[in-house]
Amino acid sequence: MPLPAQTVRPSASLQRHLMGLLLGVVGIFGAGIGLSLWFSLESTREEQQRLIGYEAEQARGNLVRRLGDYRTLLDNAARDRELADVLAFGTPEAQQAWVRARQRLLPEILGLALVDAHGEVVGDAASFRIGPACQRDLRRPGALTDGRLLVHRQQAGAEHVDFVAAVHDVRGMLLGGIFLSVRLDPLQRAIDGSILPEHAIALLDAEGRPIVGHGLQRGAMREVRLPVADTGWTLVVQSPVQWLTRSGGRQVVAGLLTLGAVLAVLVIGIVQLRRTMVRDIVSTLDALKALARNEPVPTIMPHYVEFEQVAEDINLTARHLQEQRARLERLSLTDPLTALPNRRAFETRFPQAQGMAERQHRVALVMLDIDHFKGVNDRFGHAVGDQVLLALAQALKDLTRRADLAARLAGDEFVVLLTDLDAAGLDAWYQRLSDRFRSELNAFGLDLQTGLSAGQTWLGPASRDSIDDALMRADHALYQAKERGRGRMVQYVEPGSDGAG
Ligand code: GH3
Ligand code: MG
Repeated sequence: MPLPAQTVRPSASLQRHLMGLLLGVVGIFGAGIGLSLWFSLESTREEQQRLIGYEAEQARGNLVRRLGDYRTLLDNAARDRELADVLAFGTPEAQQAWVRARQRLLPEILGLALVDAHGEVVGDAASFRIGPACQRDLRRPGALTDGRLLVHRQQAGAEHVDFVAAVHDVRGMLLGGIFLSVRLDPLQRAIDGSILPEHAIALLDAEGRPIVGHGLQRGAMREVRLPVADTGWTLVVQSPVQWLTRSGGRQVVAGLLTLGAVLAVLVIGIVQLRRTMVRDIVSTLDALKALARNEPVPTIMPHYVEFEQVAEDINLTARHLQEQRARLERLSLTDPLTALPNRRAFETRFPQAQGMAERQHRVALVMLDIDHFKGVNDRFGHAVGDQVLLALAQALKDLTRRADLAARLAGDEFVVLLTDLDAAGLDAWYQRLSDRFRSELNAFGLDLQTGLSAGQTWLGPASRDSIDDALMRADHALYQAKERGRGRMVQYVEPGSDGAG
């Protein structure tokens, strides 16, 4: 049956994930800082606009009051019956005398004159400081009654604004008018007093030309324009654009510092997280490598408590695997029937025996084979045959020391490595083994006259002997034991050398 195709999911990048996280945080903070910057800019703008609006209101109030004062002065004079009489009935001398008497009382005034009903100045216009431009204006139709304020700048140093009020007789007939021209300085003072030094202010006429003011600029300035009632004039206040107040700037700096701190904490946290995770993964890898090499597995101790359960599971699995492997290894080195070491175990231990031989110890290799074992199987059955094998195994366990090794090679063939026994000692050992084998058989309740044949050889040092040679020699001696009637042990003798065991 074909295996189901596995879909391979590409691994996600932790680095990219963390970078995304960082960018997200930066984005959120950036948006927050941008928003608070925008709020700051807006509130700064509103604050500035409110301030210059307030300044403009103040300046307009002062200006209107000042203009109102002149207008009231003129209107009061125009309503004065004495003036109406002078205009209606007075001689030109009397009319001029009226003017001169008042001129002295009004210091800020440039010119003061009386005009007749056609707008002609009474007397010598120049002596009343009434220039040709003003005279022209006075002659235009409606000049005495329309109340317009006219500004004259033709003469440097004598710039002024004209006020005119009509004078009527008791029946309402137009007799003429009273004309007043005021220097621009008082107007300048009226608007100057209400603004901050770094701000600009200007009073513009109906055509947008400046009457008074200073510092007005074009371009990036905050500006407020207010109309001055009944004049057609406009008051303009400007201030240089201030983008951020000091507290707004501090707010942005605080935001940036916070962002920096959060980023630093995040980056350090991420680096540490990555380092500890990598350390945990490496220690897990080390444990798995040790498991693969069949070395002691180090216990995984994770950095974070959240990984403890997983680590404990891995540790437990590793221990299980190790125990299982040890059990399998034991099984692979043990003969299942007799529980004696098997051929593999014998091969594993053999170099150790060779080492002993190298260190001048006498090491004997004895190969054992039960006599006529097939016959036992045939006569009494395989189960009895197994019990015979167990009897020999028990005898071998009883008669081998720690340094010795008894193993079952195959079938009824066993091998023993015995250390530090001379030939006589070996013979005695063989006799004891045969006796013990028989008594073990009796203990199993088997009354069998089965004997043991043995072939023995001495081990040489590793450089001159091999496991195959040693087994071959012992097998050869065993064969001779069988040949000579069984139930005996024969020592291997090199062919050609005299005497056989
Ligand atoms: P000899 O005296 O020449 O050794 O004769 P033998 O009958 O013992 O012949 P051999 O050693 O060749 O016989 C081995 C027999 O051992 C053959 C096989 O049926 C039997 N055998 C092998 N393994 C087992 C086992 O695990 N249990 C039993 N009951 N018999 C086994
Ligand atoms: Mg046999």
